[in-house]
Amino acid sequence: MLSQETIQNIRNKASIVDIISALIPLKLCGENYVAPSPFSVNHEEENAERSLVVSPRKNVYFCFATNHGGDSIRFLMQYGHFSEQEAWIWIANRYGVIIPQEELDSNDATNEVQELYYLHDLAQQFFTTNLNNSEMGRAIGLSYLKEKRKLSDDIIARFGLGYSPDEWTALTDYATREGFSDNALRASSLTIFKDNGKKYDRFKGRITFPIFNTTGRVVAYSCRTLSADKEVAKYMNSENSAIYNKSQTLYGLFQARDAIVAQKKCYLVEGNVDVVSMHMSGVENTVASCGTAFTKEQASLIKQYTDNVAIVYDGDSAGIKATIRATDILLQAGLNIRMVLFPDGEDPDSYAQKYGAEQLRDYLANNEKDFISYRIMILAPNAMKDPIKKSDLIKELVKSLSYVQDRTERDNCVRKCVHFFGVNENTLQLELLNCINNRLKKNFDQTKPTLSSPPSDPFPFPPELPPDFDPDGNLIPPAPVDAPPTSSSKPNWQEYNIFPDEIQERKIISLLINNGNDIISVLMPKEKPTDKDVFEQQYVVSVIVSDIVNDEMQFDNPVYQQIFGLFLHKLEAGGLLDSNELVNHPDEVIRNTSIELMINTYHISERWQNEKHVYVVAPEQRVKEDVEYSLNTLKLKKINHRIDDIDTQLRLASDPETMNQLLFKKMVFIKHQKELCNQLRCVIH
Ligand code: ATP
Ligand code: MN
Repeated sequence: MLSQETIQNIRNKASIVDIISALIPLKLCGENYVAPSPFSVNHEEENAERSLVVSPRKNVYFCFATNHGGDSIRFLMQYGHFSEQEAWIWIANRYGVIIPQEELDSNDATNEVQELYYLHDLAQQFFTTNLNNSEMGRAIGLSYLKEKRKLSDDIIARFGLGYSPDEWTALTDYATREGFSDNALRASSLTIFKDNGKKYDRFKGRITFPIFNTTGRVVAYSCRTLSADKEVAKYMNSENSAIYNKSQTLYGLFQARDAIVAQKKCYLVEGNVDVVSMHMSGVENTVASCGTAFTKEQASLIKQYTDNVAIVYDGDSAGIKATIRATDILLQAGLNIRMVLFPDGEDPDSYAQKYGAEQLRDYLANNEKDFISYRIMILAPNAMKDPIKKSDLIKELVKSLSYVQDRTERDNCVRKCVHFFGVNENTLQLELLNCINNRLKKNFDQTKPTLSSPPSDPFPFPPELPPDFDPDGNLIPPAPVDAPPTSSSKPNWQEYNIFPDEIQERKIISLLINNGNDIISVLMPKEKPTDKDVFEQQYVVSVIVSDIVNDEMQFDNPVYQQIFGLFLHKLEAGGLLDSNELVNHPDEVIRNTSIELMINTYHISERWQNEKHVYVVAPEQRVKEDVEYSLNTLKLKKINHRIDDIDTQLRLASDPETMNQLLFKKMVFIKHQKELCNQLRCVIH
């Protein structure tokens, strides 16, 4: 267990922007930082580019795609799947905070997921030690990597390459001795369990390429045989597990991340060795899919870092097929793509071996093509001989083109096709239009059951290219003013305004959370009107809480009532609520609602002052006015409801006594209502 002192030491040093940007690229936006949500693969929702908001001032993040938030620790736990202690250690290491040895628990794996991570840590240390320190490892593994594949010590270390001894149960025995269960060994797929009860090491006798997740933890392996025997599978890969999903992982991304962001471009190659080799040649913005066909999720993953991808696949027929598939997936994810084709069955690795790093870089720089030119170059020589093949090829190109989102780019490509195939431009545009319309129609049919009233036009698509459509062919319509927002994970009350005073209640809670500990000067009540004005310095939280308690107001929204209760109790106990208590509150809804309110505070753009010379009073200076105004508006809302209630009761009342009482009550409220309106300078209708 870490002591409170250690935790405070680490907390004092930790900057959430620094920590999150070590893992995913953030963009400055006003006073906050933003990124697409790293927790949701659905990047098609509104404002997806800014779903994650990180506030340096509040030291919290909030993800609007998944509606959750927290501090740096929670981010590491959610995104990196760290245990809480691991998250603290990770931050401590980053800032050089020393954790006393006695505070560190031994690595007892507490649950299945943690045990899997620890098992991979153990395997990683086992494989690399074997490669570098065992006689066989050096003689067979290391000499292969260094002499045959010409990899440097640095690059071998950077990619964590290792060697799995050519023995049946070396790793299995070692892990078992270290206390790992059969369940963990089976779940990790590092050990193969036979029906007859025998176990053996899956990667025995192979070079091990660890696969890192984006936080730099080993989650799986891809392992190459050293045998030249064609019967032996060249690569063996880990199965999916609780910590690894191959279709959502890219080999090399952890090492390539910073370079991809810096160079605004990602090279996509086919093989593990190609990734390693490209890095060694100085092209560090390179990744590969992990021994699977390229997936939509991998495209979204790249899009978190850049919009530009260059596909570098082999020129053999399997490579070409894979390239075409990947092209369509990348285009649908809204990425801009370029192609690089290597001559005569070379891949980046073999090219670098033959000609050196500099030549490789030159080749990449000078041989990029757009995808239409690439396909024409590759496929046309064969297809042009046969009219049916030619028409199929054109159809296929048009299908890919229909995914290109940029209209100018699309038109350029159409012109290229027109020029090359000698077809009529209108025919081609029509074909493209059909392609897009078919997709739109398909999409529309899928969404139809959820529409309340079917549109009267049976074919509601304009007979021309729609102005804007997303990669799946969904028309992007202007947002209707009163339609409920699309995201279903939002708390209900914000969506449908089920609480009539939502806005006013939210404002008060926001003031408590964001400005509760500010001090404002408050005019004290006078005994006689002639008394002098006396001001007293008070905390915002006491002003708000006492006002609400005195007026016996309740929040309709139960979450706000609960948050209010936290402030009230703390105040009664004579203290102030620390924002950490909200950020780390055990109740998820309280925690996320509070963090969202912290993030969603009003922010004055500097442009007003710099460009327009408009000087706005900063929120800090406005707190006092804000508190008064917000309390009064809330009170007014509540009083209006009470008056409405009395009116209802009046309509039902029959005996004069009750009616008199009600009318009297109503008058008191109306008087109060008038006072409030005077203060708010508004008119009641
Ligand atoms: P090398 O240069 O050592 O021959 P490579 O990385 O160029 O290896 P390729 O033969 O081009 O490998 O294969 C590309 C990728 O496909 C590999 O990196 C691996 O992820 C996957 N792969 C290849 N062979 C197999 C196999 N037998 N089983 C599963 N995946 C494989
Ligand atoms: Mn190769």
